[in-house]
Amino acid sequence: LMIYLTLFLAHQIVRPLNRFVEYTRRIARGDFSPIQPAKRYKDEFSRLAIAINWMLDQLQKNQELYIQSRKMAAIGTLTSGIAHELNNPLNNICITTESLLDELEDLPENEKKKRLQDIYAQAERASGTVRNLLDFTRVDQPSFVHVSVHELLSSALRLTKHEMELSNVELKYLPAESGLLVQGDFGQLQQVFLNLIINAIQAMPRGGVLSISVGKEDPDQVRIDIADTGVGIPQAVISDIFDPFFTTKEKGTGLGLSISYSIIRKHGGKILVNSQINHGSTFSVYLAKSSGKRRPE
Ligand code: ADP
Repeated sequence: LMIYLTLFLAHQIVRPLNRFVEYTRRIARGDFSPIQPAKRYKDEFSRLAIAINWMLDQLQKNQELYIQSRKMAAIGTLTSGIAHELNNPLNNICITTESLLDELEDLPENEKKKRLQDIYAQAERASGTVRNLLDFTRVDQPSFVHVSVHELLSSALRLTKHEMELSNVELKYLPAESGLLVQGDFGQLQQVFLNLIINAIQAMPRGGVLSISVGKEDPDQVRIDIADTGVGIPQAVISDIFDPFFTTKEKGTGLGLSISYSIIRKHGGKILVNSQINHGSTFSVYLAKSSGKRRPE
């Protein structure tokens, strides 16, 4: 009878415990729906269930508050960024036009031409900002073709070779196999790798090593790591770097990473970042591997 009683009691305790283990897994997956006490009468487990439900309620409220405050912060950065990016060239246009009008009679022809060129350059700069913004929000699908990963990386490296030399950056790149393909828009993907490589170079103002590696352990996707040995990203801002107009650079636009993020998302991939202050950062781009056969329409 004692053995039976012990087994019965152990069963009564272990079964609800297992249920609670399952609940914790569900909560960890982000499902905050309340848990139901299994028995109608009250015991320690139903009190625990009530306490967990209260905790879930608080967690959900805090998460909503957090998401809302992140959205507000992103809108704030976006608005002040647009205002700043457009205000600067517009101000310059106003000042130059004003001076041109004031001194129109007295200025020599070449000075008039120079000021008009300044106005044109500033207008171009403003329209570049608007173009970037449109690129960022554009919903149209990229035109997918089979893109060779090696071609993509080597073309981005060719375009940044000069900056690398100027900044004393050593490149370590083991060329990806020529047959390694992804489905994508060559121009847009090239823009992503250009942004990542330029950011990496700029993170190493006193030189360093830029390592580019291509991982293909996964049969379905390619992982491209762009790693630098630069200044690193402070933990406090790492969640902001993909926000439009977030920049820590004096002449930065803060658009490179947000545009890259949206391009990679449109390609069904993802970008992850790992960084250690004063040791460097690694940006990992994941893209679906292409078999080289045409995709069914
Ligand atoms: P920008 O380069 O114009 O500032 P980005 O959107 O490309 O805009 O980058 C946003 C910010 O992210 C940068 O200002 C910088 O603070 C940070 N960042 C991006 N890449 C790196 C990197 N490789 N190392 C350190 N910080 C980086």
